[in-house]
Amino acid sequence: MANTVPDITLNDGNTIPQLGFGVYQIAPEDTVEAVGTALEIGYRHIDTAEMYGNEAEVGEAIRRSGLDRDEVFVTSKLNNGFHRPDDARKAFESTLAALKMDHIDLFLIHWPLPTRYDGDFVSTWKTLEEFQRDGRARSIGVSNFQVAHLERLAAATDVVPAVNQIEVHPYFGNEEVRAYGRAHGIPTEAWSPIAQGAVLDDPTLVDIAQELDRTVAQVVLRWHVQRGDIVFPKSSTPRRIEENFHIFDFELDDATMERITSLDKGEAGRQGPNPDTFDYIPA
Ligand code: NAD
Repeated sequence: MANTVPDITLNDGNTIPQLGFGVYQIAPEDTVEAVGTALEIGYRHIDTAEMYGNEAEVGEAIRRSGLDRDEVFVTSKLNNGFHRPDDARKAFESTLAALKMDHIDLFLIHWPLPTRYDGDFVSTWKTLEEFQRDGRARSIGVSNFQVAHLERLAAATDVVPAVNQIEVHPYFGNEEVRAYGRAHGIPTEAWSPIAQGAVLDDPTLVDIAQELDRTVAQVVLRWHVQRGDIVFPKSSTPRRIEENFHIFDFELDDATMERITSLDKGEAGRQGPNPDTFDYIPA
């Protein structure tokens, strides 16, 4: 079986490689090298954010790779401090300027921040719609949106988010939000797909990995893609970046999928903040 990364078709007709490379917590000074390694290995989708502080280095790595701009799918996200429409417009311009790109493939509202901005993320979403209309964002989406937040957008706006990027891993299946996405044509992007390493010592996962002669990271990433989600594991170690790429040349059977899915601890398995209460705005 060849190791080919499938494309997922979004509800706006654009396509996204199902496997990408995440750069959260990669220091700016290490980002050009890490992204360069990922592109050499074959990754064609990079997930960054204004808040990660490494957009400029992501752009630099893509230019240095010699690949055409259109061969690489680039996502970035609106920083929490810039939800008001005028701020969002300036922030989006800064993102494009940092990347040194005239368009981005996917731009997301990073967090809904329902306790900030008088609870208004609808005007922020309508501002992202402008970026899509003028062609500078090919696709627009959201991140960390709960079902209630998605329902509110559906009631108040016409453009359905192209993706919802949320925390998902074997300890936190986030099934209710995923099910809403499935029912409404919003693919899930699973962030922290290996729970920032927290699932790697799990005895069930270690057993499965041994049975299949794969690593735990590969088994877990494979579980995500067989569920239809989009993933972009982060690593700065070339060996791991390579390992995480090789997940399309084997399959998990139904029983194994179910063993992994049953590790879900519900809300107790969440590693990151709860989007209903998260209100962080960087200084
Ligand atoms: P992750 O689940 O990808 O885990 C990363 C950690 O696991 C790193 O410490 C890395 O060294 C280790 N690791 C990676 N591959 C490994 C391997 N093969 N073997 C052993 N250890 C390995 O966590 P993440 O970085 O939080 O999530 C991935 C991406 O998701 C981020 O880089 C970012 O792009 C995105 N993200 C988005 C949000 C959001 O709010 N939208 C939040 C967190 C992350």
